[in-house]
Amino acid sequence: MPWKQSSKLREWRSSGRMCTGSGRSWRAAAALLCLGLFVAVCLPPVRADAVERSRRGDLKRVLILHSFGREFRPWSEYARDIKTELERQSPWPLDIQEHALLTARFNNPGPETPFVEYLHSLYQGALPDIVLSIGAPAARFAQKYRAQLFPGTPLILAAVEHRLVNRADIGDNDVIVAIRNDFLIAFEHILQLLPDTKSVAVVIGASPLEKFWLEEVKRELKPLDARVELVWYSDLSFEDILKRAAKLPAHTAIFWGLMSIDAAGIVHESDIALRSLHAVANAPIFSYAEPFFGDSTVGGPMQLITETSSRTVSAAIGILGGATPGSINYEPIGFAAPRYDWRELQRWGISESRLPPGSAILFREPNIWQRYRWQMLMIAAVFLVQAGLISGLLHERRRRRFVEVESRQRLAELAHANRYSAVGELTTSIAHELNQPLGSILTNAETAELMLRANSPDISEVRQILADIRRDDQRASEVIRRLRSVLKKTPFEVKEIELNDTVREAIGLVKAVADGRRIALIYTPVLVDLDVKGDPVQLQQVILNLIMNAMDAVSDANADKREVSVSTVRAGNHAEIRITDTGPGIAATDLAKVFDPFFTTKPQGMGMGLAIVKTIIEAHQGDIAAANHAAGGALFTIRLPIAR
Ligand code: ADP
Repeated sequence: MPWKQSSKLREWRSSGRMCTGSGRSWRAAAALLCLGLFVAVCLPPVRADAVERSRRGDLKRVLILHSFGREFRPWSEYARDIKTELERQSPWPLDIQEHALLTARFNNPGPETPFVEYLHSLYQGALPDIVLSIGAPAARFAQKYRAQLFPGTPLILAAVEHRLVNRADIGDNDVIVAIRNDFLIAFEHILQLLPDTKSVAVVIGASPLEKFWLEEVKRELKPLDARVELVWYSDLSFEDILKRAAKLPAHTAIFWGLMSIDAAGIVHESDIALRSLHAVANAPIFSYAEPFFGDSTVGGPMQLITETSSRTVSAAIGILGGATPGSINYEPIGFAAPRYDWRELQRWGISESRLPPGSAILFREPNIWQRYRWQMLMIAAVFLVQAGLISGLLHERRRRRFVEVESRQRLAELAHANRYSAVGELTTSIAHELNQPLGSILTNAETAELMLRANSPDISEVRQILADIRRDDQRASEVIRRLRSVLKKTPFEVKEIELNDTVREAIGLVKAVADGRRIALIYTPVLVDLDVKGDPVQLQQVILNLIMNAMDAVSDANADKREVSVSTVRAGNHAEIRITDTGPGIAATDLAKVFDPFFTTKPQGMGMGLAIVKTIIEAHQGDIAAANHAAGGALFTIRLPIAR
């Protein structure tokens, strides 16, 4: 929270870090209060072992003097880094004490005497081994009061801009670790990055130090007068600066100099001010020092903390180890190579191609691929495996289809060959069947001829004879049609058929064979229609095969009762065809094997008939079973699903 300058005394009492005041009667009380608060707040407790080592003489006492407060950027960052590095690199145990000089914050600072007296009382008789001042105000204070406070103690003036070094008071016991700010370079980089920039609003506060810098910056930027309009915010309250920054016209940039106290006299503690500006500004913010970089500014050439801190620490360790301060000389540290905040570049749409060569881009946010690399790889792997599986399965499915089609084709071919061989066996029967009508036709034709030779032929008798000829011809044609239908080479073709008719037709083909062998072929169809889906030619072949086998069995047995019975029944959702015979039946050990390819008990058998039968029935989603009839002989049962 910012403090009003008028509440200086209140702040001084409560902060315990600022020990200034007027020279009036309360000075002594204030100094005492200051002392108490400093002991409580500023001084780290001196550990017992540190005291012990101090007695032994190896403890080094380091006094760090801050310019504006311990949390005031940019110096707070320098001090933190210097302290950390010092503690890390020091071969000796360290007793680091820190004091903040707050007078630099005020436009009309009161006398410094109480603070000086306080420090004097604190270090009287126990001088620090080295004093490190951070920033110009602390450097100036240390130089001014060193004779009084720390006579003979080496002094390192760290993080002080070279223009602010009081060289007149530099002696052999001093080391300067100066920096050099080149604002012209900083602004030229802004214009290189954003060439359309028409104006730059410069934020610099109103403390004496800031006023000094305001004039310096104005002077340094003179060469840019014609190129860009510079708007100075030094005479505005910070509240007004925020309001203006929120509504800046297009092609404006903001340059952050320093803000310890604004024109309204409000003190800006810590680094909240820059963050507040960043939160409201509608234009990119640039600056010149690393401590301001990282959460608010776009970037550019800048002072790096490590440069200053490594020089300061190596000088301090050298001096604590016995080196002469006067022998340590450093040139002022200039801006390092530009570095930019990737997030700000994105926010303001600044292309990376505009950055000067050698620029570093920091805080690059990983893209989704970088952030979830493993997860994405896993997902991609899962997808790949899945795609592989799917394509494998598709390939397998296609292969199965192909094999299925092929096997059906083979089945059709095999069935066809099987039919040929069956028909071979039927030749006698077929010849006999054809002979009968052909013989009748011949006889009838000759009779008709004779009758027509008579003087008055009986026309009605001749008509009757011609009708008989036609009937016999149709009988002969029917035999040939059936034969052709069984022998035709057709692919497996499913259609809706009535099973009783199919069975009847098949029986018609072997009827004559049965007659020739003196076997009674009995057909008992069920009296309801049995509509099934199937290939009629192949189903006829099945029945033909089973009847031929049954007839073979009956013939071989030389039984008295020579009978083959075929019946159809409806059993639930299935149509059944049962074929029984009066043969010897199937040996119990063969029952499980009769459907195996090449299983035969016949001397001339091939053993393929039942294998083809089973394959055809299964291709019709049906099943076939072989058993022995209770009354003797074999029983084959075919079950086929009824079509809806
Ligand atoms: P094949 O007729 O060339 O031997 P099949 O596959 O048609 O081939 O028949 C295989 C075997 O099944 C026959 O050799 C026979 O032993 C037996 N078999 C088939 N039908 C009957 C039946 N009705 N009675 C007795 N055995 C049979």
